[in-house]
Amino acid sequence: MPYQAPVDDFRFILEHVIGFSDVAATGRHAEMTPDVTDAILNEAGRMCDEILAPLNRAGDLEPARLENGVVRTSPGYAEGYRAIAEGGWVGMAAGEAYGGMGLPMALVTCVNEMMGGACLALQLNPLMTQAEIEALESHAGPDLQALYLPKLISGEWCGTMNLTEPQAGSDVGALRSKAEPNGDGTYRITGQKIYITWADNDFSDNIVHMVLARLPDAAEGTKGISLFLVPKFLPDADGRPGEANSLRVVSLEHKLGIHGSPTAVMEYDGATGWLVGEAHGGMAAMFTMMNTARLGVGSQAVGVAEAATQAALAYAQERRQGKVGGTGTIIEHADVRAMLARMRAETFAARAITLACAKAIDLGREGDAAAKARAALLTPIAKAFGTETGINVADLGIQVHGGMGFIEETGAAQFLRDARITAIYEGTNGIQAMDLVGRKMMDGGEAAFALIDEVQTGAEAARDTLPDLAEPVWQAAEAMREATERLVGRPPAERFAGAMPYLRGFARLLGAHYHLRAAQAGEGRRRRLASFYVERMLPEQAAHLAALRAGPDCVMALDAEDLVA
Ligand SMILES: Cc1cc2nc3c(=O)[nH]c(=O)nc-3n(C[C@H](O)[C@H](O)[C@H](O)COP(=O)(O)OP(=O)(O)OC[C@H]3O[C@@H](n4cnc5c(N)ncnc54)[C@H](O)[C@@H]3O)c2cc1C
Repeated sequence: MPYQAPVDDFRFILEHVIGFSDVAATGRHAEMTPDVTDAILNEAGRMCDEILAPLNRAGDLEPARLENGVVRTSPGYAEGYRAIAEGGWVGMAAGEAYGGMGLPMALVTCVNEMMGGACLALQLNPLMTQAEIEALESHAGPDLQALYLPKLISGEWCGTMNLTEPQAGSDVGALRSKAEPNGDGTYRITGQKIYITWADNDFSDNIVHMVLARLPDAAEGTKGISLFLVPKFLPDADGRPGEANSLRVVSLEHKLGIHGSPTAVMEYDGATGWLVGEAHGGMAAMFTMMNTARLGVGSQAVGVAEAATQAALAYAQERRQGKVGGTGTIIEHADVRAMLARMRAETFAARAITLACAKAIDLGREGDAAAKARAALLTPIAKAFGTETGINVADLGIQVHGGMGFIEETGAAQFLRDARITAIYEGTNGIQAMDLVGRKMMDGGEAAFALIDEVQTGAEAARDTLPDLAEPVWQAAEAMREATERLVGRPPAERFAGAMPYLRGFARLLGAHYHLRAAQAGEGRRRRLASFYVERMLPEQAAHLAALRAGPDCVMALDAEDLVA
């Protein structure tokens, strides 16, 4: 079944679950009336259904390839990219000064999810550019902004992020690429970067690489990293792509999934670059890109979960097997029904979490300190839980298909292969969880407790109308409060063994909270889904929190020899 953008679900969640009206009430987004948001969602949804989704399989079957040093993209990708750029979706979050739409992050997140659900490999391209635009808006000087932002926002030029080197993956501080001043305000960038997403293509006029490198006097570690803008073609006096810069794509990786997205080894050989932000302040600038990209990666994986759920549901309503009543198809089997319910309930929960994070970003930008703290807290949860949802739901989708799920022509396997990377790039999920229990708890748990309070207030308000749902949600919030109190009482290093269970426990609670809100506002279908979530999935939180309580000893006591069979 072809992918259909879940526009109605976005509308429902924005209006009834996360309270998008708070964003629309800000001066900056006052024009975001329900009519306008509907028009945006419908327009993006149409493009995803009609143009991007049909490209998904083509990219899988005919990966991007390197031909005489130039990347040739998968069939139809150039047209798909053009539709994204002409629709204004590359620059949808960007400020209007250089031609962006200035959309709130909550809507940007809906559109990114749709594009990711329709064709993840292609959507990665504008996602990288969006992150670069934000970094330039926040950290670049006016000359660089004026030259590059209009081209990136219009989609004429594409952006990339270059952090990773062979010895510097999660440990970005170990990178060795060098930047030497030329004496004229530019720098010579030399080094090798690996795994660079969309490092080249055959459909944009230029590619603008954001590269992390070290200046000659740089300190060791992350404190000595600076960020440079390094274009494939150096702009001429008129700002048009001119002389080729000293950089090249060395090779493309053969990957498990996202075959349509070229992943390159890049070599910079004295390439000309410009400093973005402060010397040695590269990590601050890069974090601007990474936070946007982290939410973007969480939501692109939710998009894959949506696509996998739609495909499995359609298959289950056609496939006849076993003696069952009703429709006579496999959806009548309790196990199949439970898998489908889990896929739908989980996709809803992850979508609501990503949109709640996006809303907090929007309000944080208005100067609301509590919203800023909430966005910081929710970002690692949205990334890690969103991506685990993409993977787990796609995995269930294969199971619903039975043997046909293992056969490539249904596309069920592609969803899992494509989604798998999302838990790894933009900071592995393990690193996200450490961020949550470490840096994000440096406030003594204040942001976490504020969110837990909100969940309990919501549950109390629902006690009269939906007692069967409200009580377990309230109790789960209480369990999360105790877990958080215990966590913040420990030194950060001792928290890490329980970081992932804590993150998953928190996500389970938030999923229940948003399902409860949906049940309050929605019709019977929303209530039944919320009941399924609260009765079958929320109890998993107890297991996560038990693992957290167990502490680090049972993990770290096992040394490598203990793990030999
Ligand atoms: C398809 C693809 C596209 C990518 N795109 C880009 C891109 O565009 N730009 C870019 O710069 N990079 C990109 N990457 C790189 C990606 O961000 C890294 O692969 C990722 O950050 C993990 O680094 P690593 O592969 O070196 O794994 P490692 O860092 O070696 O991690 C291996 C394991 O150890 C764990 N680990 C590592 N350090 C710690 C720690 N301190 N505490 C606890 N656990 C730890 C990790 O969680 C993981 O489970 C891409 C990678 C792929 C595969």
